[in-house]
Amino acid sequence: MSATAILRTARAAGLDLRVDGDGLVLQAHAPPPPEILDALASNKQEIIDLLRPGRDGWSAEDWQAHFDERAGVAEFDGGLPRPDAEARAFECCVVEWMNLSFERSPPGRCRACGGGDHAHDVLLPHGTEPTGHVWLHSRCWPAWHAGRKAEAVEALKAMGIKGPAKLPDDFGKNGGA
Ligand SMILES: [Zn+2]
Repeated sequence: MSATAILRTARAAGLDLRVDGDGLVLQAHAPPPPEILDALASNKQEIIDLLRPGRDGWSAEDWQAHFDERAGVAEFDGGLPRPDAEARAFECCVVEWMNLSFERSPPGRCRACGGGDHAHDVLLPHGTEPTGHVWLHSRCWPAWHAGRKAEAVEALKAMGIKGPAKLPDDFGKNGGA
């Protein structure tokens, strides 16, 4: 059983789980079944990793739930075949990750190359409310944005959220900063 499945089973059995420091805290109104306790004990680190929030404030479990929800919406409400629905959901996660981990930068200096504002090379704000803005030269933006996207894909992959084998060519074109 995967850590995600164990967590789901434990919750269904009425257990409340959270991470406190390096430990896993369990709360239950009734004694939990011993096989669930065994499964939790032998997969403790994986479950802690799943529940612990990352620097974006979301845990791997939160990301999985977001992905599943977006895929479900695209498949059932949007009428997309499952692989397309998952590709769409992954793209939503990437955009959300970039928004959550967005670091605004002060005007006057390019976030990518560190250069200033020049008549021939104007700094422009990128990003939207509520994330705020990051200032970049137009010529610096494509590489910066591609790097951010790659960072998002890696971070999501590390949390067990896998994108489609091949991302569409227009992937992330309209997505966030
Ligand atoms: Zn620049």
